[in-house]
Amino acid sequence: MISKKSVGIDVGIKSFTYDSDGYSTPNPLNLKKMLKPLARVQRKISRRKKGSNNRLKAIHHLQRIHEKIVNRRKDFQHKLSTAYANNNDVVFVEHLEKLNMVKNRRLSRSIMDSSWGMFLQKLEYKCKLLVEVSSQNTTINCSRCGNKVPKGLTVRIHRCGKCNLVIDRDYNASINILQKGLKIFGQDNLPQELWKVTPVEISMRSVKQEQIIQRFR
Ligand SMILES: [Zn+2]
Repeated sequence: MISKKSVGIDVGIKSFTYDSDGYSTPNPLNLKKMLKPLARVQRKISRRKKGSNNRLKAIHHLQRIHEKIVNRRKDFQHKLSTAYANNNDVVFVEHLEKLNMVKNRRLSRSIMDSSWGMFLQKLEYKCKLLVEVSSQNTTINCSRCGNKVPKGLTVRIHRCGKCNLVIDRDYNASINILQKGLKIFGQDNLPQELWKVTPVEISMRSVKQEQIIQRFR
């Protein structure tokens, strides 16, 4: 029998995903690059006379840019979700507050929110089992010792003053998501094979990651 495998995935802006296996996937859509041409064409449209040929041309141009963005995003999300579904039996993600989309008026942020939502839908459709865990403290908690390490959005590295763990903040979050997920099942309810990733292994991975980061400093 093939041993079962589980993974925790954190979604973000710098990396589209960072998972508890230590893999990160960069966001293929450079938001700044993407928004510039959109804004330019939108300005063109507003400057041109209603019903004019030039305005119509600009509107078509805008539609093409939109289509291109949508297709690139779809393609990327399909490939990534298929890879996670094929390589794992259980995938854990954090529950994304849908309210963020309304509350946050920044365009790039709202684009990312809807993008993550679509990605999670694809995952749900393809994975054998997709489990959402609460997003509470996934960024703050130290994945090795549980110590709370609050950090602003610009802080990219998780540094724990208690156990000295130093890893990427999104990697730390993804391990927390995995641990939360495994806890939901509970050791008693979870098939033994699912415990491929034990807390000991997780902390060993963290140490390895720490050494890698320190080497490049
Ligand atoms: Zn710690």
